[in-house]
Amino acid sequence: MPSFQSYLKEIKSSIQETDVASVRPLVEAPGSATIIDVREQDEYTQGYIPGATWIPRGFLEQRIEDAVPDRDARVILYCAGGNRSALAARSLQELGYSNVQSMAGGYTAWKRSGFPWKVPIVLTKEQELRYSRHTLLPEIGTKGQIKLLESKVLCIGAGGLGSPSSLYLAAAGVGTVGLIDDDVVDATNLQRQILHSTERVGMAKVDSGEKTLRGLNPDVQVKKFRSRLTSENVLDVLKDFDVVVDGADNFQTRYLVNDAALKLGKPVIHASIFRFEGQLTVFPADGGPCYRCLYPEPPPPEEAPSCQEAGVLGVLPGIMGVLQATEVVKLVLGLGQSLAGRLLVYDALKARFRELKLRRDPACPTCGEGVDRSKIQLIDYVQFCAGA
Ligand SMILES: [Zn+2]
Repeated sequence: MPSFQSYLKEIKSSIQETDVASVRPLVEAPGSATIIDVREQDEYTQGYIPGATWIPRGFLEQRIEDAVPDRDARVILYCAGGNRSALAARSLQELGYSNVQSMAGGYTAWKRSGFPWKVPIVLTKEQELRYSRHTLLPEIGTKGQIKLLESKVLCIGAGGLGSPSSLYLAAAGVGTVGLIDDDVVDATNLQRQILHSTERVGMAKVDSGEKTLRGLNPDVQVKKFRSRLTSENVLDVLKDFDVVVDGADNFQTRYLVNDAALKLGKPVIHASIFRFEGQLTVFPADGGPCYRCLYPEPPPPEEAPSCQEAGVLGVLPGIMGVLQATEVVKLVLGLGQSLAGRLLVYDALKARFRELKLRRDPACPTCGEGVDRSKIQLIDYVQFCAGA
């Protein structure tokens, strides 16, 4: 009977090995190879090579076809030191994989060379409980929940729409929620802005919002901006977020958010409310139709409803904000059908949803034919409504 050492030697002579320096450039070129970490969970949670897929050795044969359906694709396997990955490479060869390499020296050599590594996000025991109704859904699972925890969503306005959207995003475990609002809580807000409360009248809305969101879910980091959006700060505020939830109550902010989001390639979940009616749509990151396709020009000030005086059914922003949060979660998880190109109109009095088709306007100044989005000029329209 051969000793383990002679067996391993025989295995290594029958497979291809590569070294850490050859694997290093593949990490920067996604798609060039599938890098598979075959170590056990306790090893993986200490750190892994960025971009690597984790399949513990014991599950490799079972799961490889899902991870790498093409048997001629390039596969790099690594373990801690290069022995288990050599055995794994042999096994994949036997399954018909023709381009498999084992990384000699393994993760230990990788780290010793000073190459980049990451600590994976894994759910803690508390998180497994908190998000169990998500992870039970096969469409979400632990992987989807981790995606949510890694996502960053900006809510424009901590008011009528921002309250329900940010609350549900925080509850869902969106890891970073941004709140931008320069206002303080006012008694007239409490009829609909459920992020705030009676004893917080006079407190900055972003501070009150942070308290509520962190109280609901301590996993959530709240990034606060106590200011108005302007052409000066909008790119800076938006740049670190994956998705923008537009709950602005005025046209100038909506144009600014639209234009800046197109410039940065960020999706916008748009909603607006008026009296008993709400509207909702998604402006996709890759452009069009956008807000300017829907409303090419701001209305003249005399036609814009005076926000201070216009009434709104208090429940209505709740419905529209929750729909916004739903679209965010779908977008982050890549689930279902987006509302891009469709305007959903909700009439609370008739209890009816209608859907209108939105088309990209080829002449749109921000998403039309031949428009270089990086050159979009940001405009501050004259403010004609102080905000409700
Ligand atoms: Zn457009």
